[in-house]
Amino acid sequence: MRSILVTGGAGFLGSHLCEQLLDRGDEVICVDNFFTGRKANVAHLTHHSRFELVRHDIVRPLFLEVDQVYNLACPASPQAYQYNPIKTIKTSTVGMVNMLGLAKRCKARLLQASTSEVYGDPLVHPQTEDYWGHVNPLGPRSCYDEGKRVAETLCLNYQLAHDLEVRIVRIFNTYGPRMDPGDGRVISNFINQALRGEPLTVFGDGSQTRSFCFVTDLIDGLIRMMDQNDTSGPINLGNPGEFTMLELASQVLRLTGSRSTIEHRSLPADDPRQRCPDITRAKTLLGWSPRIDLATGLEKTIAYYRQLLTQGNNSPL
Ligand code: NAD
Ligand code: UDP
Repeated sequence: MRSILVTGGAGFLGSHLCEQLLDRGDEVICVDNFFTGRKANVAHLTHHSRFELVRHDIVRPLFLEVDQVYNLACPASPQAYQYNPIKTIKTSTVGMVNMLGLAKRCKARLLQASTSEVYGDPLVHPQTEDYWGHVNPLGPRSCYDEGKRVAETLCLNYQLAHDLEVRIVRIFNTYGPRMDPGDGRVISNFINQALRGEPLTVFGDGSQTRSFCFVTDLIDGLIRMMDQNDTSGPINLGNPGEFTMLELASQVLRLTGSRSTIEHRSLPADDPRQRCPDITRAKTLLGWSPRIDLATGLEKTIAYYRQLLTQGNNSPL
């Protein structure tokens, strides 16, 4: 039995990861400051004898004995990470140093949840891991993008200086049950707007693209990356199916059966025009590729939000 630390474990991705690790027999310590995560996401795990939930902010040092660290702590939605940009930067820098220090002391392997945002508004399409990116260092997204870029640099240098085993994954837009309905991300917004009969808010003309990966596929990729011995990455994980936001809106309307209209809003500054992962490396090195297509994943996510709405969760979008 391995002892595994999951930071950000009460968040969307973290809670699914904790579940998977427990299912295969590991001991899981879930650390979270509950900024965007919720106890409800892991409530079904708290009775488990191999699960421990710790309220802690990774910007402060942490002393635990573990074999592996999945570092997922960091707000992921633009609305959440721009709420307190300095805190977002501290989480990806000071927090990253703390988690690398912990891993170094324990001789644990550390996987860093990096992001497609390291490519910024990309000039290369689809994005390969050797592309250096096109990031505005002073824009509204920079607290997140630059923080994650520094986090990757820290990982690499801890590996070089201290022989630490690191694994870097660049996660592309991922969605599914337990995404906070009020987090402002496009899939949670569109589905909840459709279910409530409100207009779907399409930013700009809706021709910008994203590629959406269902959560179970992504978690499978994270675990494969952590457990292999051949590469420290970086490796892109995402679903290469690429859709415009207008295409996404019409899929959501069709699958929910909603009569909501579409309302255009202004495009946020520095919103990337297009995003699509080249997953050749993940296929070759991890034997990984996503299995769940967008319609199937959306149906599962719609079912989750329907259930939340019938339970009376009507938090403002
Ligand atoms: P999320 O906001 O649901 O989860 C992040 C979790 O980290 C939350 O539980 C939050 O409370 C916790 N957290 C934030 N700051 C913390 C701190 N200082 N100390 C302790 N806990 C802290 O987001 P998510 O979608 O689950 O994303 C998880 C990770 O994956 C993030 O690092 C994010 O950058 C990365 N990622 C996600 C996506 C995606 O599409 N979901 C894409 C790219 C990268
Ligand atoms: N978006 C939108 N309507 C919304 C929320 C987002 O059209 O209600 C757009 C946003 O401008 C971006 C895309 O959807 O082009 C994905 O946004 P999200 O916040 O989900 O993630 P991002 O990939 O931008 O970090």
